[in-house]
Amino acid sequence: MTDIIDGKGLAARIRRELTQECADITARRGRPPGLAVVLCGDDPGSATYVRNKAKAATEVGILSEVIRRPATHSQAELLADVDQVNARPDIDAFLVQLPLPAGMDANAVIERIAPEKDGDGIHPLNLGRLMMGVPGPRPCTPQGILALLDYACTELKGARAVVIGRSLIVGKPVALLLQERHATVTMCHSRTTNLADEVARADVVVVAAGKPRLVRGEWIKPGATVIDVGTNRVNDKWVGDVDFDGAIGRAQAITPVPGGVGPMTIAMLLANTVRAASLRHR
Ligand code: NAP
Repeated sequence: MTDIIDGKGLAARIRRELTQECADITARRGRPPGLAVVLCGDDPGSATYVRNKAKAATEVGILSEVIRRPATHSQAELLADVDQVNARPDIDAFLVQLPLPAGMDANAVIERIAPEKDGDGIHPLNLGRLMMGVPGPRPCTPQGILALLDYACTELKGARAVVIGRSLIVGKPVALLLQERHATVTMCHSRTTNLADEVARADVVVVAAGKPRLVRGEWIKPGATVIDVGTNRVNDKWVGDVDFDGAIGRAQAITPVPGGVGPMTIAMLLANTVRAASLRHR
């Protein structure tokens, strides 16, 4: 039997806890935690993600604001927007939705965000803190993945973990978090020569490649836990990077797509916002 890890249910539980924390913070300091999302350009996927984030924030009692800017916005104008949000007392955390319109330097924009307001946990200072193992806001999706592994009661100490994908927002930070929890981590990417063999050795598989059904069911070691981060639109349906049907019966536990990692990413953004508000109040 394979457990389907209910990310939607876990995220709902975390959001309920955050609702209480939000109410406490609001009562203590007389205003709610504030989250801003800067959306530059007209990427339809980004518009949906931003809408979902703002809605989820409002539901837990966070004051949320979407700052919309056209695709014609210049880099200098966007940096000036970031400076303004950095200075706003009502905003405790924010993010600039990626990807940015062509020609913009996302790294320069991320570096401009005040580290203490870094909702996504991807400012270089916070990534450095993650690498050093000291407290700081952690990137949302990796934080959500670790929560899902704990929820599925996956033993990480001494486990062999394979991470497929080496992006800054998922692959690299999740590998660090897994090492922090004493897993032995192998990073795979598009030049990895025998992905099937790497996966077959793993007790924990995290896949963030953006390639529909890249990981085949028969590759998975019986009893492994599989976290599928991929969100791919195929024939009007969302599918992950793992052949879900093939993994059923082999994996001990697996996240579905949708309803696995996605809701947890949003819940962790809300958690980072509430934490930032709480730290500022102190
Ligand atoms: P990304 O920046 O798109 O990079 C993809 C990574 O996968 C790269 O490191 C690439 O290797 C690797 N890769 C591509 N094809 C591969 C192959 N055939 N074999 C092995 N590795 C391969 O990654 P991302 O931004 O982390 O996104 C990955 C996926 O996760 C996307 O579907 C995205 O939509 C999804 N995502 C979901 C959430 C969520 O909350 N549910 C959050 C973030 C991302 P190279 O480095 O060699 O190019």
